[in-house]
Amino acid sequence: MRVMVIGSGAREHALVWKLAQSPQVTKLYAAPGNPGMAECAECVPLAMSQFDDLATFAEKNGIDLTVVGPEIPLIEGIVDIFRQRGLKVFGPDSAGAALEGSKAFAKELMASAGIPSAQHRTFLEAGPALAYLEEHGAPVVVKASGNAAGKGAIVALDLETARDAVEQMLVRHTFGAAGRIVVIEDYLQGDEVSVIAACNGTHYLPLAVTQDHKRALDNDQGLNTGGMGAYTPVPFVDAETEKRMYREITAATLQAMQAKGIPFTGILYTNIMLTAQGPMVVEHNTRFGDPETQAMMVLLREDLLNVVQFAETLPVKRETLWHPGYGVSLELASAGYPGNYPKGLPIHGIEEANRLPGVHVFHAGTAMQDGQLVTTGGRVLSVAAHGATLREATNRAYEAAKLISFEGMFYRHDIAHRGLEVE
Ligand code: ATP
Repeated sequence: MRVMVIGSGAREHALVWKLAQSPQVTKLYAAPGNPGMAECAECVPLAMSQFDDLATFAEKNGIDLTVVGPEIPLIEGIVDIFRQRGLKVFGPDSAGAALEGSKAFAKELMASAGIPSAQHRTFLEAGPALAYLEEHGAPVVVKASGNAAGKGAIVALDLETARDAVEQMLVRHTFGAAGRIVVIEDYLQGDEVSVIAACNGTHYLPLAVTQDHKRALDNDQGLNTGGMGAYTPVPFVDAETEKRMYREITAATLQAMQAKGIPFTGILYTNIMLTAQGPMVVEHNTRFGDPETQAMMVLLREDLLNVVQFAETLPVKRETLWHPGYGVSLELASAGYPGNYPKGLPIHGIEEANRLPGVHVFHAGTAMQDGQLVTTGGRVLSVAAHGATLREATNRAYEAAKLISFEGMFYRHDIAHRGLEVE
């Protein structure tokens, strides 16, 4: 099969790296890809936003399957275009991706289907939203309904912060179009985990329970980022809780989408708070997670092509999906991330790190400049490691990180700490 992966981050590098190991894949493209992906796929110089050009490329090159990595092309309808042109693609169409692209849509769907999630109200104007805040009190969470690149949820522990968030979104329009509709929801307390499944409209293949680390600095300090590291499986989630999350949340969401006439295909990756009242949805994502995917791909035993086509190929057995043990990913970031950061700094040590057992370094924000690999992004590299225990996987990731250097590089030192406490 000829396969194309769309995206340019560490998540897509991990997908390409795994697909390159599939005996069924005869040719692999990455659009636009990055220098890491160039080692195992042919990079195509087309931007993720060029849907028609990408579809034309797929037609001309006889691509049998396209896998879309990031959320923005999904929300903006890349799958709709590919399907209209008779091209096979893994991911939801724009109606399905609204589960991620519109928090108002996702909350309404969950409320009407009885899927456990925080109580919420939706607002288009500041006056009623501020009045609701006075009545509700803090803590509360104020969210821009649209996609705000991970920055659209403000957890307000006091009313002052909540009011300011509403004013930013509905008066000052700091969040642009993403903040035109505001969702205000109850504050949930508990451990936050993610549950990931491959879906084909009616059926799903449960993939993994993961935990990520969103804040930039140790002990959950600093600003929210795209994610500084993740691990899977999560030792404090028992089999019963896992089953319950898939049944009450994943399966129920698929059914609710089906009933609405929007059969959901692709990855459903749901952030869930394990509250005293049971698992409750924080948000839905409609694609592979980043950095969760890097941790998952070093642990995956099954052919990734069989996973994404699980409904069409031989049954994929859950018992043989994963290697035994744990997967961990650790993001190496540029000084200043998630704010401004320098670019073009030389990177050293990836080859040495890749020689460690169970380790693979995925590229996120890198470029080749005159034969030298340099930084171009906030998250530069993602070090993923597999180990027999969570401790071993984590130690391997940190040993690898020590071999890598670029000026100002930083990373969190406490990835997987909740899991390690339990293990
Ligand atoms: P991303 O897409 O990057 O995951 P986002 O901006 O779409 O983020 P959410 O995932 O909904 O927003 O929220 C971001 C974070 O805020 C969550 O991971 C969670 O830690 C916290 N959060 C969101 N909703 C709640 C809630 N109801 N109670 C407590 N914390 C919450």
